[in-house]
Amino acid sequence: MTDYSALLAGYTGFEKGLDVSNPATGASLGTVKDWSEEEVTSAIADAAETFKEWSQRTAKDRAAVLRRWFNLINENAEALAHIITAECGKPLAEARGEVAYGASFVEWFAEEGKRIYGDIVPTHATDKRIIVMKQAIGVVSAITPWNFPVAMITRKVAPAIAAGCTALIKPAEATPLSAYALEKLAIEAGMPKGVFTVVSTTDPAGIGKILTTHPTIRKISFTGSTAVGKLLLAQGAGTVKKASMELGGNAPFIVFDDADIDAAVAGAMVSKYRNAGQTCVCANRFFVQEGVYDEFVEKFTAAIKGLKVGDGAVDGTTVGPLINEAAVDKVAGLVDSAKKEGATVTLGGNRHDAGPNFFEPTVLTGVTSDMEIASSEIFGPIAPIFKFKDEDDVVRQANDTPYGLCAYFYSHNLGRVWRVAEGLEYGMVGINEGIISTELAPFGGVKESGLGREGSRYGIDDYVEIKYCLMGGI
Ligand code: NAD
Repeated sequence: MTDYSALLAGYTGFEKGLDVSNPATGASLGTVKDWSEEEVTSAIADAAETFKEWSQRTAKDRAAVLRRWFNLINENAEALAHIITAECGKPLAEARGEVAYGASFVEWFAEEGKRIYGDIVPTHATDKRIIVMKQAIGVVSAITPWNFPVAMITRKVAPAIAAGCTALIKPAEATPLSAYALEKLAIEAGMPKGVFTVVSTTDPAGIGKILTTHPTIRKISFTGSTAVGKLLLAQGAGTVKKASMELGGNAPFIVFDDADIDAAVAGAMVSKYRNAGQTCVCANRFFVQEGVYDEFVEKFTAAIKGLKVGDGAVDGTTVGPLINEAAVDKVAGLVDSAKKEGATVTLGGNRHDAGPNFFEPTVLTGVTSDMEIASSEIFGPIAPIFKFKDEDDVVRQANDTPYGLCAYFYSHNLGRVWRVAEGLEYGMVGINEGIISTELAPFGGVKESGLGREGSRYGIDDYVEIKYCLMGGI
């Protein structure tokens, strides 16, 4: 067990505050500060003050600080991974992957900040010039979920900070420790006070209201459920704040008759069972064509039987706990209603004896689109499998949801690959791939899955304003 206490020195040990516990064991991990409304308001003022200085630095200066932060995250990767596993439950190997993935955004945007180019537009009059510049948007508030407690923060704040913004980060109640560890490393990297400030709270609605309505905040960046995203958008509307929203999903995973079934099973395993099924891009509905249905179900079920459920800190664990008992109750309820509606449990289906926050990896067959589970974001280790006849029908079913984050399909028919990729109403599509996220590509959804994109060269656009200047008298 790697000792991570140095990364949290000064951040835990509060007598009264937000208690953090390990979802696998129930063990207490410490108590962090419960920020008051006055303290958050004062932190917003600090961020605004720092913005004046930070936004005036050269992009190269800011990049140097971000690069030091990136190096420090890597040097402390093992400790950070242990913090993630302790507070969020995912297996250590996945937590290590998350740290590398989270750090990759810091490295990418350190460089991308140097390429926020403006334009000189051809003029409409010979004595005038048209200039377009891009400027940092101002103070940003970032509200993040518990399922990727490091990466969901860096994916937002790295572009913000690289562009010259300053940020307040409100992590989920379950996972403030990763956020504070990142803050500690940011300070060590040379970020001035007010550039990256974590505000943990037992009152997300109250503090969230300040972070979405305070006139100094110019932009909200949120990752979480669609329901909360809608509320925050409405709150931000009063002061017309810009907003990036990374919301829920209901990903279809389609296997056509012409697919490589072994590859589809491998893709299904990583897409479904990463983080015990608790990712926004997890396959949520498996559509398998009639001709390969039996083969896919048999091979997928055999692979799932090989998963090892338990404490993510224990060697060999591949599926950790769900985040809390409420999440287990929700998943158990979805399985029960699917059974009542006529689905068959062909594997699992029950709470797991590893502890109150565990649920068995489960396969449901005979699932149809009218069942409750078909329209719910499962966020757990349940694989509902639907049988389909033809391409048009499956694309229609796949799109029959208000969500539009990520879709997957497996096929080796070239024409079908184009048709289906174009027909799916999703922001991201994995074609013969079950895991698609990288800092190099634009991550984000359409419909009720969100607004804006994170990562890639597009990711920095959300943190700059476009200013047009017309210069006359030339
Ligand atoms: P959640 O919406 O309950 O919470 C997310 C964050 O919002 C937390 O920090 C929480 O404290 C805060 N929050 C809750 N109520 C609030 C309020 N009234 N005002 C201000 N803040 C409030 O979501 P969750 O359960 O933490 O995360 C799971 C959800 O996140 C899923 O729907 C998942 O799909 C989504 N998610 C999306 C992406 C993406 O990139 N699209 C990535 C990860 C998770």
